[in-house]
Amino acid sequence: MAVKLPIYMDNHATTPMDPRVLEAMLPYFTEKFGNAASRNHSFGWAGEEAVENARQQVASLVGATAKEIIFTSGATESDNLMIKGVAEMYREKGNHIITQAIEHKAVLDTCKNLEKHGFEVTYLPVQKDGRVDPEDVRKAIRPATILICIMYANNEIGVINPVQEIGKIAKEHGILFAVDGVQAAGKIPVDVQKDNIDLLAISAHKMYGPKGVGALYVRRRNPRVQLSAIIDGGGHERGMRSGTLNVPGIVGLGKACELCQQEMAQESERIRGLRERLRAGLEAKLDEVFINGSMEHRLPNNLNMSFAYVEGESLLMGINDVAVSSGSACTSATLEPSYVLKALGVGEDLAHTSIRFGLGRFTTQEEVDYVIDKMVQVVTKLRELSPLYEMAKEGIDITKVKWQTAESAH
Ligand SMILES: *Cc1c(COP(=O)(O)O)cnc(C)c1O
Repeated sequence: MAVKLPIYMDNHATTPMDPRVLEAMLPYFTEKFGNAASRNHSFGWAGEEAVENARQQVASLVGATAKEIIFTSGATESDNLMIKGVAEMYREKGNHIITQAIEHKAVLDTCKNLEKHGFEVTYLPVQKDGRVDPEDVRKAIRPATILICIMYANNEIGVINPVQEIGKIAKEHGILFAVDGVQAAGKIPVDVQKDNIDLLAISAHKMYGPKGVGALYVRRRNPRVQLSAIIDGGGHERGMRSGTLNVPGIVGLGKACELCQQEMAQESERIRGLRERLRAGLEAKLDEVFINGSMEHRLPNNLNMSFAYVEGESLLMGINDVAVSSGSACTSATLEPSYVLKALGVGEDLAHTSIRFGLGRFTTQEEVDYVIDKMVQVVTKLRELSPLYEMAKEGIDITKVKWQTAESAH
């Protein structure tokens, strides 16, 4: 049977919604439309009951209790709330925050914003494999440090941080530990108790739920974390996040969490198998390919690879019936290579020819095989046009070649 095109292999950007999630949500758009804050009638009660059920489902996925879950509009908001909320609440204790170079922009830009308001932020480098060294975290701690913010798993390279070790260090020093758990939650086991996490951001649309809804775990005991709100209003969500609750979205997030929890063990093994098939297939049929980031500490659904001696744009064009992401931000006017790959020490050339493959719940073996064939075909064709590749194959060290360039070129 032929595969259906185009193929979606960009599940770190977003995931398709699971039909079971949609089914759970539907009644809450129509007959069960009540405002969960309406205390005086059954419409409101039905909404509230659905929200509290979802709160339990989310909590259960990450080892929390229901009261520790705050619903938000997504992980960008959760990241903002956990960082700004702590910064403002604990300002008298100190003004220093520790984070790292390859966080999502929702974290980096929030920290940059705080720097304009008197906070000092340490952006730790990552090691060549993309992971944060817990010892670097320890060394960066100052008396004024109030927050350590390190992501669980990276959205480009899928590399998983030593979260448990970092959490332990934070706890030893009495510093709050905030984690962007978007790419990890629902894919690998995340446990806020085991990992000593005080705040955890998650997003529904990265785990087969709807867009525009997320959650923030806020620890209530040992220690009890307090947050300043960034959205004021009716005092919803224990005053931490006002605004009428998105009941259908929240029901969807809850269902998505429940499904992930139930199916994680088998699903991650299946997806890991497909990812390994993809990796092995590409490595067997192509030379001069490089994996970006640790292979050992990596999400089962991620593969990030650079293909030397091809032109990044042409590569993407060549595989245009496969939806993937590339390491060059060609959406922006400047062709800047990914800051994540840069932080790993990947050179510009290889960063520009990197591809992020994001597999998911609905990825099939046929799709993986199609992608292998297509990649091999396109990379091989592009290399046939590359004098550099030819020279490299002839054993010429191209770093030592003296180029004759016409002044008009480029
Ligand atoms: C997608 C993503 C976000 C943002 O989540 P939204 O719900 O889309 O706002 C934050 N962090 C990471 C790591 C992500 O992958």
